[in-house]
Formats: sequence, structure tokens, C-alpha cells
Amino acid sequence: MSNWQELEHKYYMPTFDRLPITLVRGQGATVWDDNGHQYLDFVAGWAVNSLGHCHPAVVGAVTEQVKALIHVSNSFYTIPQIKLAELLVNNSCLDRVFLCNSGTEATEGAVKLARRYGHLHLNGAYEVITATGSFHGRTLAMVSASGQPKFQKPYIPLPSGFINVEFNNIEAIKAATGSRTCAVMLEPIQGEGGVNIPGDGYLKAVLEWCRQKGLLLILDEIQTGIARTGTLFAYQQYGVEPDIMTLAKGMASGVPIGAILAKERASVFARGEHGSTFGGNPLACAAGYATVKFILDNNITQNVKEVGQYLTDGLDKLKREYRFITGVRGLGLLQAMEFDSDLAQSVVTACLDSGLLVNKLKPSAIRFMPPLIIGRKEVDEALGILDGVLSTTPGKAGG
Ligand SMILES: *Cc1c(COP(=O)(O)O)cnc(C)c1O
Repeated sequence: MSNWQELEHKYYMPTFDRLPITLVRGQGATVWDDNGHQYLDFVAGWAVNSLGHCHPAVVGAVTEQVKALIHVSNSFYTIPQIKLAELLVNNSCLDRVFLCNSGTEATEGAVKLARRYGHLHLNGAYEVITATGSFHGRTLAMVSASGQPKFQKPYIPLPSGFINVEFNNIEAIKAATGSRTCAVMLEPIQGEGGVNIPGDGYLKAVLEWCRQKGLLLILDEIQTGIARTGTLFAYQQYGVEPDIMTLAKGMASGVPIGAILAKERASVFARGEHGSTFGGNPLACAAGYATVKFILDNNITQNVKEVGQYLTDGLDKLKREYRFITGVRGLGLLQAMEFDSDLAQSVVTACLDSGLLVNKLKPSAIRFMPPLIIGRKEVDEALGILDGVLSTTPGKAGG
């Protein structure tokens, strides 16, 4: 067998901090490496494999589509694209859809849309207020939008037009608003930045402020959307309706896709003002339609609520057992566990050795984002492995 990891080190740009396994197969919430070892997957491709690995509904839809039509240009109408757009509009508070290929492309497009709106309706306003600790993607503009210096510093000078203000602080948004402001862009729950939950009333206060000032509210639901938090979109649990919303990660169970959704009044792109070669192509849309339809038809949101609560209860129990766990937070099947020191790497590695994949969120925290179709059995198995790992964490056991 080839030594794939050595070859990777030789040929691939060293941008990723990878764990030392090479994955070759997946089914449901389980993946296998090239040595035949099996792992319970609580990373799910960073909240991407909504229906788990190789779900029959997705495999079936993609197989059919790949035999019929993989790609044509957007100068033609295609059926999967239209079906997916209709499904998203009929199940959200938004009226129109633009499909693209990734999260960063969706947020970048959302900012372009807000700038068009500013040109047309807000005297040329173009600035977008975002939050510290946010993550909106990796293009230069989205690095500038993401309020995290670690992503920004390597690339200065950054595109202008973004103001990063403290998350969960409505006064900071008010203070940053000026005649140049056209929109506020937030994740309902900050995913990559730490699974940071908004305070009571924060999102409502932001929406109220946007209405008062005529600004657009953009919600980046790339991580929280498509049932991840227990409702199809997280905004439904916070009593707010965005003017623009972005989706990506979990929308097609692993086939690359992204989406910008907008209310009619904010849907101001004219012909030729935005576009994409691959965006909305039949193959990706067939996977997206199959995923979202399965989630709706099988009440997967209810499963996420129940199993998510069960996971929270289990993590809380571990928190009571081990004093070095300082916090458990999250919603639905997006959860994090915080430690009192930089234990994340060793916990992630030990879990891996015991057959469980979890994500290192930051040096002192780990994140759980399993497929949305898991049951209590998988949660029990994951908690059992985690308990075993935590109980042998050097010098840390007991409490
Ligand atoms: C992952 C993520 C992005 C970027 O998505 P990519 O597909 O990696 O470009 C943007 N916003 C949020 C909230 C995300 O979680």
C-alpha cells in the first residue's frame, strides 16, 4: 500500500493540521481508514454530512443525475436547480435564491448583494458590520469580514468595508453604524469561533436596529442552517427574520454547494451583476434537493432536538464528573466542551485512538457536530469513549 501521508507531505500545500489517518470509506455515522480501522464520526466533514456518509437518498439522487446531466452553463434552465430553489423558498422566510459552490462564495455574494442594495437605496452605503470571533470564509474580503486576527494578519492589507465589533453587544453595533453602513452580518451562533451562543434578545435587538436604520440583516447560517440546531434554520429559534441568509456546509450532505437567499426587497442583483460557472449545477443541486427533502419529509429537526438534548445531558454529566471541564454549550447537534487548559489536542488524539472523531475547536475546546441522523446509541458510544479518554487524561482525573 502506498504511504499516502508521506506523499501528501511531499505534494500538498501544508495548510492543514491533519490527524494521522487516511479515510477511504463511510457509511452512516461511521468511517473507515485504509487500515480497516473504524471510527464514529462526530466531525461529519465540519458539519457537512447531514445525512451521514453515503446516505441512500443522496447516493440515489446523485447516481441518477450523474447519468442524466452533470453540468451545463447557467445560460440554460435546469430542473434540479429550480426544484432546490423552490424547496428552500417554500421552507424559509426568504423569497429568492442564488446557488454557488461554497460557504465563502455565499457570504462574499451576500456582501456584494448588500453593497448593491446600498448603492440603490442607501446613498451608496457599503460598509458591513460584523462580529469579533465570527467566521465567514477564506476569500480576502471574507477574511476581512471575519473578526479573527489569526485569519487576517497573514494577509494584510485587507479589503476595506468591514467593521468588526464585539459579539453579543448591541451597543457596539449602534456605535459602529454610520452613513456608510449598509448591513450587519452575523452568525446566529458562532460556529468556528467557539460555538458562541447569542445572549437573550441580542439578535432581536440587532434586527430592530437594522429596521430603524434601514440596514440589511445578513445571517450567515452556513454552519447553523439545514437543521443543525434543531430547526431548519437557527433564526427560527431566535424570533428574527434575516433580509439575506447564506447556506452551504450541510446542504448537500457532502457535495460542494452554497446558497444566498434574500427577501424580495433585498434581491437587487440585475442580470450580469453576479454569476458562477459551477454554481447551481444539476449534480450539486440533485444532492442538495435530496438532502433537504429527506430532512423535511423525515422530521429530522425533531431528531436533532431530541438527540441534541440527549448529547447535552451526557456532556453536562461529564462536566459534573471532571473538574477540568469548565463549560458545555451548543444547540441541537452543534456542541462544544471547554477545558480549563489546552487539552483539546490530546483529547482529540486519544479519542481518535479509541475510535471517535471529534474536532479541535481551539486549544482549550472540542466541538461535536455529528450527522443529523444519529440516535441515542451513537451518542452513548461517543460519550463512553470520551469518558474513557477524560478519565485517563494525565493528572486530571477525578473531581
Ligand atoms: C464554514 C463556514 C464558512 C465558510 O465556508 P466554506 O465552504 O469553507 O467556504 C462561512 N461561514 C460560516 C459560518 C462557516 O461555518
